[in-house]
Amino acid sequence: MPEFKLTKVAEADFPSRFGQFRIFGFQGLKGSETEEAIALKMGDLSPALGPALVRIHSQCLTGDVFHSLRCDCRSQLELALDQIVAEGRGLLIYEHQEGRGIGLLNKLRAYELQDQGLDTVEANESLGFEADLRDYALPAAILQHFGIREVRLLSNNPEKVAALERAGVAVVERAPIIAPPLATTAEYLRTKREKLGHLF
Ligand SMILES: [Zn+2]
Repeated sequence: MPEFKLTKVAEADFPSRFGQFRIFGFQGLKGSETEEAIALKMGDLSPALGPALVRIHSQCLTGDVFHSLRCDCRSQLELALDQIVAEGRGLLIYEHQEGRGIGLLNKLRAYELQDQGLDTVEANESLGFEADLRDYALPAAILQHFGIREVRLLSNNPEKVAALERAGVAVVERAPIIAPPLATTAEYLRTKREKLGHLF
């Protein structure tokens, strides 16, 4: 397996409607492939204060920017930031991995197939993708950069917990983030629960 190299490209103050963060830009290099992620950090993350709340969020342009009601990404993002702000410390890692790694336009093609009756997993598979293409080398390296070995992970996805542990990070607690279901997301959430093992 090629070695993974993380570079911090930038760091700056980041006031937001949620609260006052520091923003970091990271680049990961694995073989000849580069991946980018940003991190929003609040408070003191040193392990002496206990394991911090961490959210690893995969970019969802349609949800995060346009408030799509086809998925619950934007709600999860807001709930995660609210919980980090309520505790006064924590880290949100935002990865450029649109549509569980398949890319933006392929995600829209998957929507087209879903409109014809396929569920989110079947649609990805019929486009030739696995249901979830993410690996967690980049977020694990970012956590290591901040000296974090143990996390309380904001996630409903047990596979994300397992993948992060495989990448060398101890998940001491999985903190659920439950967005209120909507008529437009009910089917999507049912598939995530039944086919991808998410816990609601
Ligand atoms: Zn989404």
